[in-house]
Amino acid sequence: MVPTPLTVRAPAKVNLHLGVGEVRPDGFHELVTVFQALSLHDDVTLTPSDALTLHVTGEGVRDVPTDPTNLAARAVVALAERYGRDPNMRIDIAKGIPVAGGMAGGSADAAAALLGAATLWGLEIGRDDLDEVAATLGSDVPFSLHGHTALGTGRGERLIPALARGEFHWTLALAREGLSTPAVYRELDRLREAGDPPRAGSPDALLAAVASGDPHRLAPLLTNDLQAAALSLQPGLRRTLRAGIEAGALAGIVSGSGPTCAFLCASADDAVDVGTELAGAGVCRTVRVASGPVPGATVVP
Ligand code: ATP
Repeated sequence: MVPTPLTVRAPAKVNLHLGVGEVRPDGFHELVTVFQALSLHDDVTLTPSDALTLHVTGEGVRDVPTDPTNLAARAVVALAERYGRDPNMRIDIAKGIPVAGGMAGGSADAAAALLGAATLWGLEIGRDDLDEVAATLGSDVPFSLHGHTALGTGRGERLIPALARGEFHWTLALAREGLSTPAVYRELDRLREAGDPPRAGSPDALLAAVASGDPHRLAPLLTNDLQAAALSLQPGLRRTLRAGIEAGALAGIVSGSGPTCAFLCASADDAVDVGTELAGAGVCRTVRVASGPVPGATVVP
């Protein structure tokens, strides 16, 4: 019998609010963050096979490992070990999420692989069990499973769904070079030792703005403690952020650890216009238009 492939689609994320607290004894920083899942996806296809293999196509392939360190492979192995299954399968990843772009591309693949393997194996496990495995793979993996808009605490893995009305429109400016998430946190620690850059306060006002569905209300509240560190490592991003505002975006922010810049726009048409101007200004590698919130990892029928 020919094995039937199963495809799971998982979204990118942007952090609407990213407050970075102190370093914990385990080396991670304590976070208070508001995630939103965006309509920019990776598709992960699993096919039962006699070996665990990886094949990657699309956005940034040359920087994605095709060995067992790939987060999708680690997800399959972790689930197989926990539930006594055979991890051998072919994993095909079609990347639409920029690699090392601060948009949780690897986490999306891990979430998709977890849901895909659990479905293929017919595991009768709840979302809580899947969340537990997800959190062992990476701080953003539980959010990639859940999607929509959520408040994350701890390392970002403890989630509370947030109410969001309507649809928000985004333009994303993808950078030429990636940024390593650990390097950006190290740079923030260095900046904080040298002085005390301003910190994001409570996310309450931002959560109310998300619930209102009004992008004009949300725009001035977008905040990211990692932005100063990302700008310090890639100073050219200042020009990208400025160009987006000049092009008519309501606000621009570095997404997570960067270097992708996310611009909130008043409408879908505005987002296309901002993208066109950014592409013409030569301040980024390429642009994408997306909307959010969207669901987390979902089996493609
Ligand atoms: P985050 O926003 O979660 O901090 P990111 O979006 O900045 O992460 P990723 O695209 O997840 O970054 O990639 C970070 C690194 O993880 C890559 O440089 C790559 O070496 C490694 N990696 C492992 N598995 C994957 C995968 N499936 N897709 C992309 N990168 C992967």
